[in-house]
Amino acid sequence: MKPAPFTYLRPQSLADAVHLLNTGEGIVKPLGGGQSLGPMLNLRLVRPDLLIDLSRMDETHTAEVRNDAFCIGGSFTHAEIEDGTLDKALEASPALAAMLRHVAGTIAHRAVRNRGTLAGSLCHADPAADWVLAMTALDARLHCTGPRGPRTIPMVEFMSGAFTTAIEEGEVLTEVSLPCYSPAMRWGYTKFCRKTGDFAKASCAVVFDAPRGVARAVIGALDGPPALLAGLAAEVARRGLAGLSAQAIHDAIASAVPEEDAADRQLRATVVKRCFEQVLRAS
Ligand SMILES: Cc1cc2nc3c(=O)[nH]c(=O)nc-3n(C[C@H](O)[C@H](O)[C@H](O)COP(=O)(O)OP(=O)(O)OC[C@H]3O[C@@H](n4cnc5c(N)ncnc54)[C@H](O)[C@@H]3O)c2cc1C
Repeated sequence: MKPAPFTYLRPQSLADAVHLLNTGEGIVKPLGGGQSLGPMLNLRLVRPDLLIDLSRMDETHTAEVRNDAFCIGGSFTHAEIEDGTLDKALEASPALAAMLRHVAGTIAHRAVRNRGTLAGSLCHADPAADWVLAMTALDARLHCTGPRGPRTIPMVEFMSGAFTTAIEEGEVLTEVSLPCYSPAMRWGYTKFCRKTGDFAKASCAVVFDAPRGVARAVIGALDGPPALLAGLAAEVARRGLAGLSAQAIHDAIASAVPEEDAADRQLRATVVKRCFEQVLRAS
């Protein structure tokens, strides 16, 4: 199938994009890389009257340290991040740069990564999406702008359910900011996919940064937003491998995801264990 007819506009500035999103007639949607929206248009699951392509706005394509945070424009593609485009801005935290490169490189296939964007992935809010998981583990803050001006939403409050977010119609996700993790930061990122390039069936991200007092573990590919395993992360940060017993992992997952069949629970437990082991090996 092919999309229902729509008008396509590609503004050159954020101000123009927000203006068009809020004054366009009928159903108006922002377009990132089109890697999720494109298939939905083709299947006629969405039938916008007007598409606003956000790919030409310089304002959302910058990366820098600002106000004690790493600020990453939403328009960066997965491929740009995989290729190290953010490395210079993140030179104070090479581990963070490495984590972002790694996460980007595990998304789908290169053809999808060439077009798909950080903001598009977060706004699409697929529970199995990689940026949704990684940005929750990294305690990101999401910066949006719309007709009522800019606002900031913590990642943990951004996704309220599968494919549902706090972003409102007419708003653009412009930037993601991350704490300035120290050079001592350690991370793990593991996922299980049936085939290379598939969405994850189970996934886990762990971030430890002792100087900043950070120990976060998050599981993804659930029915809704990722879930924090705060107790397990604190135990492993304190006791190392001794805190990572099979029972501790099982209890942490059971409390975060009470309803799950045994096979899925086992898969998740394996992914969580490998993720923590990756962090501990790096320590
Ligand atoms: C075959 C295939 C395999 C994939 N595998 C994976 C995978 O393993 N892991 C993974 O994480 N993802 C995967 N994806 C999804 C991919 O990462 C997409 O790039 C991503 O979900 C959407 O990003 P996009 O920039 O293409 O957004 P689009 O498809 O253009 O838009 C997605 C949604 O976000 C909205 N939107 C886009 N940008 C903004 C913005 N700045 N502000 C507000 N709203 C916005 C759009 O209106 C739309 O509702 C896969 C996709 C395909 C086609």
